[in-house]
Amino acid sequence: MLVMKFGGSSIADAEHIRRVAKIVQERLDKNLVVVLSAMGDTTDFILKAADEAITTGPVSVEFSIEKITELHLNALRELGISKTLTQDIRELLSDLASLLSGVSLIKELTAKTRDYLVSFGERLSARVAARYFQSLGIKARALDAWDAGFISDSGFGSAELLEESWRTIPQALLPLIDEGILPIVTGFIAKDSSGAITTLGRGGSDLSATVIAASCNAEEAQVWKDVDGILTADPRIVKDARLVRAVTYEEAAELAFFGAQVLHPRAMQPCSKTGTPVLVKNSYNPQSPGSVISASLPEGINSVRAITMRGNVTLVDIVSSRMLGQYGFLAELFSCFAQHKISVDMVATSEVSVSLTLDAAHDIAAVKKTLSRIASVEVKTKKAIVTIIGLVERSSAILESAFGVCASLGVQAQMVSQGASKVNISFIVDHDQAESVVRGLHKRFFERDN
Ligand code: ASP
Ligand code: MG
Repeated sequence: MLVMKFGGSSIADAEHIRRVAKIVQERLDKNLVVVLSAMGDTTDFILKAADEAITTGPVSVEFSIEKITELHLNALRELGISKTLTQDIRELLSDLASLLSGVSLIKELTAKTRDYLVSFGERLSARVAARYFQSLGIKARALDAWDAGFISDSGFGSAELLEESWRTIPQALLPLIDEGILPIVTGFIAKDSSGAITTLGRGGSDLSATVIAASCNAEEAQVWKDVDGILTADPRIVKDARLVRAVTYEEAAELAFFGAQVLHPRAMQPCSKTGTPVLVKNSYNPQSPGSVISASLPEGINSVRAITMRGNVTLVDIVSSRMLGQYGFLAELFSCFAQHKISVDMVATSEVSVSLTLDAAHDIAAVKKTLSRIASVEVKTKKAIVTIIGLVERSSAILESAFGVCASLGVQAQMVSQGASKVNISFIVDHDQAESVVRGLHKRFFERDN
């Protein structure tokens, strides 16, 4: 069995859907499950329409909903689907329009309503694709996530799937596959136990696909994107970025966290539990081999996998005179961040000081005030985290080269940390120097043969 997930840009319009159908058709001899995101930018459009509905009222809603309606009806028309077969899709579109105008009247938008609204994107795309696949003679069936066994908690906006989904998903899907049906499942969404629609966080369709693959014991989860796979660096920064053919689950998770948004950060978890490989492929370039994410790497592979950076980071230096020989200081410190709901990314400590990094979006003023009672605090903004991802067993050699690169660029590395997962070495530099450091490191680790 194979799970194939296609992202929004892979199914952006009729032409793209045809291309996806071809890719799927070539693999019909495997037992397939297809998982789809919303078409193109539908999710963004719905969110925009919802925001407009509460601010400017019904007039602009008309405009945004028109865009969404047009996108789907155009696709159906261009795919040659007769109007009589599109009743359910038209009904969804008109429900979405009514809901949005409801929001514009009551001018209230809860996280629950927002999830309900965006769920229309995936419900529409699965139906459009299923109709087209059927017109090609494929026994396809559109399934809403809840009919495919997805049960989540009620964390609207970023819900977690409940453990029982590992049982209910195969229960729902395997019998269909046995009947020779191709399930086309909506990614990104689920229902909580009281029946309310939830979403798994932006980009969550990746997670939907990997959960299906892992829980159904599939051979592989394939995530089809609009890029060749995982690259050695962000191609907007490094024009010679190359395809990374193989990475481990841990490396992929680090990459996702550090902004190489190839996969949803949580998407690796289910497959790393079961050891199911995840193949990232390009629907615009199916010939490219893609990147495999799995438990182990081929022998003799380069020890550095990729260089990434995360900009707009705030560095906080905390010095306590009490820390020497004391216990409980770190606990107190971190509980202070927890209290203010601030997530800490990187940490380095010495006997008397702690340096840590936060996303610049956090409001640090309040936490600084609380912390001042136990330590002196210095906040430095406009920093970036540069990360080298790879086999850190060779960390001394990697660090030596990395610092050599920094020195040659005249850049000061301000804090260094080696992740406990043993796959990353990170350091802080000034935000406006970060890109040149990434380029320098890329040259050092990947372009030496040139
Ligand atoms: N359509 C959702 C989004 O744009 C989920 C996804 O694409 O995975 O975030
Ligand atoms: Mg999307």
